[in-house]
Amino acid sequence: MHRIGFGYDIHRLEAGRPLILGGTEIPHGAGLRGHSDGDALIHAVMDALLGALGESDIGAHFPDTDPRYEGARSTGLLATVVGLVRRRGGEIVNVDAVVVAEEPKIGPYAAAMKAALAPVLGLPEGALGIKAKTNEGLGPVGEKRAIACYAVALLKLPD
Ligand code: MG
Repeated sequence: MHRIGFGYDIHRLEAGRPLILGGTEIPHGAGLRGHSDGDALIHAVMDALLGALGESDIGAHFPDTDPRYEGARSTGLLATVVGLVRRRGGEIVNVDAVVVAEEPKIGPYAAAMKAALAPVLGLPEGALGIKAKTNEGLGPVGEKRAIACYAVALLKLPD
């Protein structure tokens, strides 16, 4: 059977932090605040995968009160969730994501993000979509105070 999952995340931008998105460091004057490395794109993808499994969200799996996840690289957390999919006998069919950021321009980094994430997901790059949008200047994302990400994932699971 097939199951679809959906994930969303938003993190505040904070001056002086490295900006890590999609497992890729992007040169910018501000980065995403978070207990881990703040990689909102990976967090949205993880929640999409967990949702397709009928699992609770990443906050339950990786509590931000747990010092083990302080400054954790989100690629490692993603690998743990992919391992959970495989233990259930599942296989990821494809993942599609949208990054909403006013600044910096994300489009030029989409290829690097795909190259970083596709191997962790065990997907060919053609089965991983990463698209970039601005928020047309509206709201906290449009005011460059945050970056938001959305993702869907399709899993093939045993009947
Ligand atoms: Mg997050």
